[in-house]
Amino acid sequence: MFEVNLVGMVLAENLDCIRARITQACERSGRTPDSVELMAVSKYHPPATVAAAAALGLQLFGENRVQEARLKIPQLPSRLRWHLIGHLQSNKCRDAVGLFSMVQSVDSLPLAEELSRCADNRAKTLPILLEVNIAGEASKFGWKPDQVLASLAQINALPKLEIHGLMTIAPYSTDPERARPVFRSLHALHRQCEQQLGAPLPVLSMGMSGDMEVAIEEGATLIRVGTALFGERPRLQRNADGP
Ligand SMILES: *Cc1c(COP(=O)(O)O)cnc(C)c1O
Repeated sequence: MFEVNLVGMVLAENLDCIRARITQACERSGRTPDSVELMAVSKYHPPATVAAAAALGLQLFGENRVQEARLKIPQLPSRLRWHLIGHLQSNKCRDAVGLFSMVQSVDSLPLAEELSRCADNRAKTLPILLEVNIAGEASKFGWKPDQVLASLAQINALPKLEIHGLMTIAPYSTDPERARPVFRSLHALHRQCEQQLGAPLPVLSMGMSGDMEVAIEEGATLIRVGTALFGERPRLQRNADGP
């Protein structure tokens, strides 16, 4: 009990700090704080830690692996919402459609087609984001920007997917300003997609612990925050799976 309370206290303090950062970035850019949704990235953290975050009122959580989510999600309150934010293999689509209310990491047309088929099998419609590899990093998944525009009509035609917007991960840097051109490009691409589709796309998912302020200044509607809320991820698994 004592330990749970201690975790809760640390999370509450971290959450206050994150909310202050969001508010300040919103003030600087003439936005209201409720225009930015905070996702708690809970990958590698045990269910008890996620439960402590949920007890603080957080509702949206991000996981990057289907296998881990399959074990974790059933142990947590059913009112929580979960998004997949990591690369998805086609053979895991069926599980993903059952577990997640959105897949933010749709990075190819075959994957989109398989997701649509799996959603159809479950008689549901799946909201998705298209993950864009703006900086063209070889180590990252995601569409090239021109591929997004070229494939948009085909993805939009898939019967059981709903495109809600775009997602990106900026290249790692200790200087958040390095992410600004990446976020600005994603926002510009987002507008081009809206124009092509002739409809507004509500979600621009960009910004993490180190660069959330810059992302908000550049128009993020959803930020994905792990370390600033939960602290460092458990080391063993972090090494196994990148940052
Ligand atoms: C891990 C992860 C995050 C969170 O990163 P932090 O730097 O810990 O905030 C955000 N987005 C994606 C896609 C991730 O994999």
